[in-house]
Amino acid sequence: MTRLVKKLIWQQAAPAPFESGWSVFAKLILLNQMKPYQLIGLLKLPEAKVTNKLRFRCSDWIDLEQFAAMISINPNRLRVCFFDQLQIHIDESYSQLKGDGIKICPECLAKGYHCLFFELSFIDTCPWHHVALEQACADCLRAIYSKGLQFNPGQNHLNQNNRDDSSEEHGKWKSICNHLVFEVDIVRQLNQMSQEQELEISHKCRLLYGWIKTAQTRLDLTEKLFCYTQIEANKFEKLFNAAEQIAGQCPWPINKKRTSVKWITYNNHQHELQSGNNSKDSTISLDDVYGSIRRHIFNRYVRHHRVCHHSIMNLKRDESLSLDTEKVCGVALAYCVWRLKIENFINIEALKYDLGTKQELVANDFYHPKIDMTIEMQANLIYMQFFYFWELIDQNIGKNSMVINSSGLPFLISNMCATYWKELWSGIFPHPETLANSAFMHCVQIYKRSKSLTNDRITRNWAYGYHTDLMSNKPGIMFKLTKFQSTPGQHSIIYINL
Ligand SMILES: [Zn+2]
Ligand SMILES: [Zn+2]
Ligand SMILES: [Zn+2]
Repeated sequence: MTRLVKKLIWQQAAPAPFESGWSVFAKLILLNQMKPYQLIGLLKLPEAKVTNKLRFRCSDWIDLEQFAAMISINPNRLRVCFFDQLQIHIDESYSQLKGDGIKICPECLAKGYHCLFFELSFIDTCPWHHVALEQACADCLRAIYSKGLQFNPGQNHLNQNNRDDSSEEHGKWKSICNHLVFEVDIVRQLNQMSQEQELEISHKCRLLYGWIKTAQTRLDLTEKLFCYTQIEANKFEKLFNAAEQIAGQCPWPINKKRTSVKWITYNNHQHELQSGNNSKDSTISLDDVYGSIRRHIFNRYVRHHRVCHHSIMNLKRDESLSLDTEKVCGVALAYCVWRLKIENFINIEALKYDLGTKQELVANDFYHPKIDMTIEMQANLIYMQFFYFWELIDQNIGKNSMVINSSGLPFLISNMCATYWKELWSGIFPHPETLANSAFMHCVQIYKRSKSLTNDRITRNWAYGYHTDLMSNKPGIMFKLTKFQSTPGQHSIIYINL
C-alpha cells in the first residue's frame, strides 16, 4: 500500500551534484515559505530525536526515501548532499566562538549553487571559479539552522500611498547578511547550471572525495582535518602535510601553507602483548631512556651548533633573563629549554652544575587518566616534544621580546597527537630536517657583534623581576630575550608557556 506523501514545492533540476544540504534546505524553506522547525517536522524519521534546529550536514535524522518522494526526485540525488551518506562522519555542532558559518563562492551562489565540500574547514578556494571562498558567515548558518529567512516588503508595500502600481516588486526573502536573497514574484530557476558545468562539478567533487577517502585510511593522523570548524593555522599546516603525504597532492586548489612533518605511530595493544611475553621493559627506567634520547638529539641536531650551545650553557641566571634575541641560536636555545623542562629546572646553571638532588623528570605532563603510560610512550612523546619546542622558538626568535616560561601546562600533547589514549595513535611533529636546514641558515646570519649573548641595555632590575633565586620551582621564567634595536616600551612580549 502506498503511503500518502505530502508534496513540497520543488524543481526537478535541483539539487545539482554534491549541492550542500544547507543550500537544498534554503531553497525548500523559501519555496514552501516555511520556518526551519516546520521542515524538521516533515522530514524527520519517526524514531529520531530532534531539536528545533535544522541540521543540514548529516542526514541521520531524515527519512531520506520519504524526503525524495516529497520532492519527486531519485533519493540517490539527495544522498550526495549529506556527509554521513558519503561515510564522512563528523560531529555536527556549531560554535560562534570557533568562527563556524557558511563559506560561499559568490559566483557559484549567483547560479544557485553551494557545494557540500565547501563546508570542510580546509577548503578555501572554489575549484571552478578559482576565487577565494568568503569568510564563514554565521548569519547564513543561522538562517537555515534555526531562524529562517526574513521577509522584507518591497518599496511598493512601504509606500502604498504614493504609488499604486502592482507591477512593482513585492518584496524579498533574505538572510540578514544578504547572501541569500530570493525575490518573491520571480520564479527563479533553482539550478542555473548547464549540463557541462554539472559534469565538471561532478568530476572535481569525485576527485576530492577519492582523495579524502585515501587520507582517511589513516584517521589516527588526519581525523581532525575533516571537521567543519576551523583549526588553528599551526595545526592545520601539519595535518594537511600529513594528509598529502598519505593521499598525494589535494586535487582542489588549497591556498594555505603546509609544514612538513614526520610521525610516530604507536600501538598500545601490541605493546601490552610484548611486555606480557617478556618483562624486560620494567628494568629500563625513564631516566635511562631520556638519557639516550638526549644524546641522540645532541649528536644529530645540536652538535653542529656546539659553539652556540656552549655559550648558552655558560650563561649566569641574570644573563639568561637579558638575552639579545638577535644573537641567540634557536636550536641551541630549544635544546636547553627542552632539557630544563624535562629535568624540571628553570635555571640554566642547574644543568651545568649537577645540583646533587636529582630532580624528578617531568614526563608526568603526559599523564592521562584513561591510560597507563608506558616508558616507551613517554619516550616517544619526549622525543617529539623537542621538535615542537624547536619550532616554537624558531617562529618567535628575532622578534622584539620573548619570554620562555615553564608554566607547567601540559598543552603540547594534544597538539602532537589527538588520540593518544586510543589503541593506535600517531604523533605528528615538525620535520627535523626542515628545522635543521633553517637553523643552519639562521645561525650563519646571526649578527655576532660581541661574544656576549646578553642585551646590556636591559636593566638588571627588569631581569631580576621574577624568581631570581629559584632553581627548579615552577612556574618560572627560563629565558627572556629582547631585541637590541627595539624602542623600549614599544614592544609587545611574546610568552612561550611550556
Ligand atoms: Zn564558485
Ligand atoms: Zn551570509
Ligand atoms: Zn647555532
